[in-house]
Amino acid sequence: MATQVLTRKQRGDRIAPEDITELNPSSYFVKSQNGKSGYAVTRVGQSWTCDCFDHKFRRVKCKHIHAVEAKISGHSTDPAWPFSLGLWEAPK
Ligand SMILES: [Zn+2]
Repeated sequence: MATQVLTRKQRGDRIAPEDITELNPSSYFVKSQNGKSGYAVTRVGQSWTCDCFDHKFRRVKCKHIHAVEAKISGHSTDPAWPFSLGLWEAPK
């Protein structure tokens, strides 16, 4: 089996929508994958900030921001998201 290296975008897509809590339309809380803490993702103008290490120190668009954007865009257009995108397998 080949080792698959996930891009940052793909890792963002792996954050489940239920791990994202909307505090208000420009402020979200994303539970970390160990479930013990989380990160605040806040809209600033046209972009987003996050208080995780990746974003603050490496200045990249981190997986939390990707996840919030995916949740917002998926939410308004398709109630079946994320299953319709094939990101998660629907329960059998
Ligand atoms: Zn982040």
